[in-house]
Amino acid sequence: STPPHVPALVIGTGYGGAVAALRLAQAGVEVRMVEMGMSWDTPGSDGKIFANTTKPDYRSFWLRTRTKQPINNFLGFPLDKDVPRHTGILDAEEFGGITVYQGRGVGGGSLVNGGMAVTPRRERFAAVLPSVNADEMYDRYYPRANAGLGVNHVDVAWWETADCYQFARVGRKHAQRSGFAFVFVPNVYDFDYMKREAAGLAPKSALAGEVIYGNNHGKRTLRQTYLARALATGKVTISPLHEVTSVAPAAGGGYVVVMNRLDTGGAVVASVSMTAGKVFFAAGSVGTGKLLTKLKATGALPGLNDEIGKSWGDNGNVMCGRANHMWDPTGKVQASMPTAGIDNWDAGGAFAEVAPLPTGIETYASLYLSITRNPNRAAFTWNAATGKVDLNWQTAWKQPSIEAAKTIFDKINAKEGTIYRTDLFGSYKIWGDHLTYHPLGGAVLNKATDNHGRLHGHPGLYVIDGALIPGNTTVNPFVTITALAERNIEEIIATDL
Ligand code: FAD
Repeated sequence: STPPHVPALVIGTGYGGAVAALRLAQAGVEVRMVEMGMSWDTPGSDGKIFANTTKPDYRSFWLRTRTKQPINNFLGFPLDKDVPRHTGILDAEEFGGITVYQGRGVGGGSLVNGGMAVTPRRERFAAVLPSVNADEMYDRYYPRANAGLGVNHVDVAWWETADCYQFARVGRKHAQRSGFAFVFVPNVYDFDYMKREAAGLAPKSALAGEVIYGNNHGKRTLRQTYLARALATGKVTISPLHEVTSVAPAAGGGYVVVMNRLDTGGAVVASVSMTAGKVFFAAGSVGTGKLLTKLKATGALPGLNDEIGKSWGDNGNVMCGRANHMWDPTGKVQASMPTAGIDNWDAGGAFAEVAPLPTGIETYASLYLSITRNPNRAAFTWNAATGKVDLNWQTAWKQPSIEAAKTIFDKINAKEGTIYRTDLFGSYKIWGDHLTYHPLGGAVLNKATDNHGRLHGHPGLYVIDGALIPGNTTVNPFVTITALAERNIEEIIATDL
């Protein structure tokens, strides 16, 4: 029988995919979205859809039998534990030299992320996306993305006295005493909701420490924003638990898309095919990078060029903790949503997010996720022997990130008479240099694609996610991914439909 045909198929339901689906649907196009993760709309036996950060369970990890928590140690105790294998929400995907954390499910990374919605400084944009007209981005597409995502600002007067931001005020004090710029950053978490949580008027989510395994309340994920609007058009259908494995030219034009339907144990229960006039790769930097690398190497998409799989970076992510003195407690209850960072980009190549450590107890610890100027770039390659795609990133390539982060924290430690924590990422290990939350690149704009995401060699194929961005955004990436998707889909709708 002939497979069903859809005019447009979007692989993945994260930022790029959600923007593409909404704008195509508004232009009158029927869209099928295919998502390997679950739909995350049904509560578990505890009445909650998402598990708590401090108590990972079957919902927390993508097809693992043991957790792989980003902070895996505390005061000498390993934190990881056995969990049932399940199509959970956070994928700790392991490559040779790096673990890449990604959201799995309808909403992609928006389900698990910290919600920090940061627009890069205008003067730094040229280094982020050199071929893109910055005036258009800052006049039109960044504002459109911020509005579409429901970005809001914390009420600083409230923040100044809220118990749950004690940790951030300690972060500010230490930054400023060492002469660093401390900047507030917007977020997609509804800060009015958070105020109600703090006042005991609403069920707690950010104030219960929920974040990396999902938020039960308060967070405006893509499910509340772009995807809700896309579904409301009546033109968008989402198929969860479907993992795309192949895209190849169809005999009569368009493309054949092949996918595995999964059960919640990760087993393949069916193979499904569809044909599509246009296919949008929105599987995230790693998902899109891996898929295109495989499709080029195996000859399914022979027209793809040699830029496929290249220019992959980790946004310079590196984590560390500092041990504060007893007179600088960071608070028992910490809002899981960051509100601020330390900007030492120009002088030291680091922007450090003042991160919560929502353990529910006083730790006297300050935690930071630094985004740094790291020049190293990796490539995806097809491994015919294993039938998998490898990434050649090496752990030692984080050294420039560590040096950049030290420009901030060595100085703060010297000024405060404090030391680094050595217990959070292993025993006697200061730097969380084995991971990233911010994979970027793999099918870079104006290299693997034209300047609007059209893949070279195969008309009707597009990349519209973080794979377009060559490895670094100087800040947290999802606003830039969203704004770039808004820019590209506008052009594609105007000229290609
Ligand atoms: P994604 O959002 O990753 O979406 C891709 C989707 O495609 C996923 O749902 C995936 O399951 C699906 N998929 C992949 N392969 C396939 C396939 N073969 N078939 C079908 N579906 C597939 N960024 C910020 O800006 N601010 C933050 O505060 C922040 N905090 C973060 C915290 C954590 C713990 C993590 C993990 C990330 C964080 N990020 C943050 C990063 C941000 O979430 C990502 O940059 C963003 O989600 C990437 O968007 P995307 O559209 O490229 O892809």
